[in-house]
Amino acid sequence: MTNVEESNVTSPTFEKTNKTLVVTDLVKHFPGGRSALNFGATKQWVRAVDGVSFDIAPGETLGLVGESGCGKSTIAKLILRLEEPTAGSILFEGQEITDLKGAQLNNYRRSVQAVFQDPYSSLSPRMRVHDIIAEGLRIHTDYSKSDVTTRVNDVLALAGLRPDVGRLYPHEFSGGQRQRIAIAKALVLDTKMLVLDEAVSALDVSIRAQIITLLKDLQQELGIAYLYIGHDLATVGHLADRVMVMYLGRVLELDDSVDLVKNPRHPYTQALFAAALPSHPEDIRETGEQPNAEVPTALAPPTGCHFHPRCPDAMETCSVDFPQEVTLSGGRRISCHLYPSGSEV
Ligand code: SF4
Repeated sequence: MTNVEESNVTSPTFEKTNKTLVVTDLVKHFPGGRSALNFGATKQWVRAVDGVSFDIAPGETLGLVGESGCGKSTIAKLILRLEEPTAGSILFEGQEITDLKGAQLNNYRRSVQAVFQDPYSSLSPRMRVHDIIAEGLRIHTDYSKSDVTTRVNDVLALAGLRPDVGRLYPHEFSGGQRQRIAIAKALVLDTKMLVLDEAVSALDVSIRAQIITLLKDLQQELGIAYLYIGHDLATVGHLADRVMVMYLGRVLELDDSVDLVKNPRHPYTQALFAAALPSHPEDIRETGEQPNAEVPTALAPPTGCHFHPRCPDAMETCSVDFPQEVTLSGGRRISCHLYPSGSEV
């Protein structure tokens, strides 16, 4: 029997950095048609992800927030190798994954799984739950039938479900239970990292709290790294250890989630948090203006700081120069002319 644990080789780089994921200068540009002014000559590009760097440690959750079109989903697809990057590096446990092929790519895909917003779309309605969860084991291992059953029952238990639900079909479950099945399916191999793309967004508040608790418990037990992508800032702040804020393909601010939620410093983060409903009246903060215009398209982002047409603090330089990222004392990364080079540590 091929044990799922046996396939993982720890690289020297991983031993040195001890990071599950290290993303450096990641870029993804999509062709976006041709310029109307110069038809046939100039191809335009959608800069979906434009030089993004971050890392995630084992057992850590990085929350990724930003308005629609900021590049969140493209980053998820790049990490899951559903898209190829234009440039940049993605190290998983110290190994570059952007050029993996064949068996090595399969091994990587066993280790990094995803849970999406709508579990129903990822669970075949014609398959019983047992077979849905067992599918990965049948593809990636040579487990015997009884080993498969044991493993499926183990992950059902991890996800808070009884073994006998394996004979049922997805439509026989509630939304929260279906998300538990999706989580069990994602954990059935030797999973080291989960990409949680709006994974609790469609659930009722009480069910959402249960799934968040389940995810936290599983992380504590299994030491899995999470990349949690969401638009609900209360959930992201609750689940994530650190939060990264993106706008039009770039990182604007990244810090410990408690510090960032209490004291957002970038005008865009302030506006984003001010626009979100507080989870408690006492949590209402005077955090400045809300974004006052539509999000520009990544096909033609504004010059300089991409946020300048919407920023209440914009200065003359903001429409000309893109602000370099600096690291403030305490470790916060920020990209804004209010924090110029020299204000960093
Ligand atoms: Fe506002 Fe300028 Fe900072 Fe951009 S760089 S967020 S426009 S102050």
